[in-house]
Amino acid sequence: DNLETTVELRTLHLENANNKLKYMASHDPMTGLRNRLELENDIEDAIEHNLQKGAPYAILMFDIDWFKKVNDEYGHDVGDMVLMEVSAILRDSIRGNDKAFRAGGEEFVLLLDRITYEDSLRLAQKIRKLIKSHVFKVGKEAFSKTISCGLYYSSLFEVRHVKEVLKLVDIALYESKENGRNRVTVVNKSMNLKIKQTVESVQDSD
Ligand code: GH3
Ligand code: MG
Ligand code: MG
Repeated sequence: DNLETTVELRTLHLENANNKLKYMASHDPMTGLRNRLELENDIEDAIEHNLQKGAPYAILMFDIDWFKKVNDEYGHDVGDMVLMEVSAILRDSIRGNDKAFRAGGEEFVLLLDRITYEDSLRLAQKIRKLIKSHVFKVGKEAFSKTISCGLYYSSLFEVRHVKEVLKLVDIALYESKENGRNRVTVVNKSMNLKIKQTVESVQDSD
């Protein structure tokens, strides 16, 4: 009986340690959001699910505008504080089955499960406005930031690979930057064409 309790306790400890390791391998320590590795796995799952069952999904990719200026003007710690506050806004904006990721330095991705196109666009704009009106405080000083967004919606174009869809939202995000930042750009046909041409020209060359 005593031995049984000991074994049960050990198993519990191992399970705890295992869960902790799993968490550390899949999350960004600073923001607590899911990491890049998870992002690619989860998008792969969403693509599969969409191709097999037609479940719609949206991907929002955000990049903070002129983020480098925060580091330059206030220092790296304040930069980190901005990343944490932006992450909190993103986390608080999504529903239970949605997922928030830190894709890179000051780049974030939301994977929205079974959402309509209109709702995904509405959410992207809502987040953009929330960030714009958020006040970041440093001692007695305060400043605000804006964010740019690229949006992919599954029913607009079919994609088969993670890299393909990430490339598409990245092009849309880049267009938001080019057009003046603080805006949302939806992946469109010409971007899709651009990708297809890149893929074809790669295939042509070998
Ligand atoms: P843009 O509007 O074109 O996005 O301009 P930007 O200044 O935001 O873009 P850029 O990519 O030039 O700058 C990103 C900066 O983010 C550079 C890098 O030093 C900073 N950065 C990346 N990761 C971290 C981090 O974890 N903490 C802090 N404080 N800064 C980071
Ligand atoms: Mg960037
Ligand atoms: Mg940036």
